[in-house]
Amino acid sequence: MATTQYESVPELAGEAPARAGTVVMKFGGTSVADVERIKAVAGRLVGAREAGNRVVAVLSAMGDTTDELVRLAHETSPRPVPRELDMLISVGERVSCALAAMAIHDLGHEAISLTGSQAGIVTDTVHGKAKIVDVRARRIHEALDADRIVLVAGFQGVSTDFDVTTLGRGGSNLTAVALAAALGADACEMYTDVEGVFTADPRIVPGARKLHAVSYEEMLELAAGGAKVLQLRSVEFARSHGVKLHVRSSFSDADGTWIREEDERMLEKAIISGVTHTLEEAVYRVEGAKPSELFQALAEAGASVDTIIQTGPEIVFSAPLSDTAEVTRTLDGLDVDWSSREDLGKVSLVGAGMKTHPGIAGRTFSTLAELGIEPQIVNTSPIKIACFVPLGDVERAVAALHDAFELHTEEAMRAHD
Ligand code: ASP
Ligand code: MG
Repeated sequence: MATTQYESVPELAGEAPARAGTVVMKFGGTSVADVERIKAVAGRLVGAREAGNRVVAVLSAMGDTTDELVRLAHETSPRPVPRELDMLISVGERVSCALAAMAIHDLGHEAISLTGSQAGIVTDTVHGKAKIVDVRARRIHEALDADRIVLVAGFQGVSTDFDVTTLGRGGSNLTAVALAAALGADACEMYTDVEGVFTADPRIVPGARKLHAVSYEEMLELAAGGAKVLQLRSVEFARSHGVKLHVRSSFSDADGTWIREEDERMLEKAIISGVTHTLEEAVYRVEGAKPSELFQALAEAGASVDTIIQTGPEIVFSAPLSDTAEVTRTLDGLDVDWSSREDLGKVSLVGAGMKTHPGIAGRTFSTLAELGIEPQIVNTSPIKIACFVPLGDVERAVAALHDAFELHTEEAMRAHD
């Protein structure tokens, strides 16, 4: 292994200060679903280059490619070896990048596609859920200096053991944010199939509005509450590195939603930013466990735990349905009594204005009570009230709360009237 002179994220921030006009543009699976769309993406990247930017693009795999590859693996083997699974599923992103580079050449511009490894994305050795430990962006800088548009395969890197790793589903978001941080980009543009972050899921609440801006904290709560537009980890990374995100549609030029530090202007906005929901969490009740042992074991099994409530000897927690196998195995392995239920959904009201404005909880519970809905479990933070309610009541609860806080109007309750 030849040694190369590498730079880490923090060093890079000092040594190669933000070069004005570097932009990271990330395109999700639907935005590159077919050749026509890839050509459209190429056109957009060329446009950004011609406007004078240094352009780094991060692409997802075309359409459902990753799902297909995962299916193929499980058809071949009941428990695919994690290293080989990563070799396989990292391929989809490379396809998109190579095709986009070809299309850019046809438009008369220079472009180069890079794997995560070639792009210098170094991770730990946890296959399928790797964490980025370093971004060694020398090669990207060289390509940008040579006037090229750089295409980086999303959702993957190379481990400290030199194996291909993937970052978890939706991980191209993380690739993009990490590159934006390492390159000191002005912003990280997240192109997707929706126009931005909405006050609620427009399929449930037709009057839902696109939000102009939300703080990192609000976006974290919205994502944890079920908003699917951005992967939770990528928002955490953006917050800790101060990367401004712009979620927008790849099918229009309209402004989307900005995600950034809370500032003065945000204080002028509505107290509540949105209502999100998820139908994909199970609630567990455990008796006879020491919390330290229980949550340590769950963490080791790779299960992400959300709401935790302890009253006396009983511990209640929730975890995504996608982690059911891990949680079940862990609980069976401990000497505890446990049960789970999958008949609840979580409805979360999120807004930075809650911190300073009393009465939000009261209005939330009275709105639900009017519908005859009694929350089974409630979990709050300074900017969130989350209620677990029966699955069949989730949509009604979302619509009623959206209404009660007048989120459909530009004049929704202000923090400083
Ligand atoms: N293609 C991967 C997935 O579908 C990564 C991504 O799109 O962000 O999860
Ligand atoms: Mg995808």
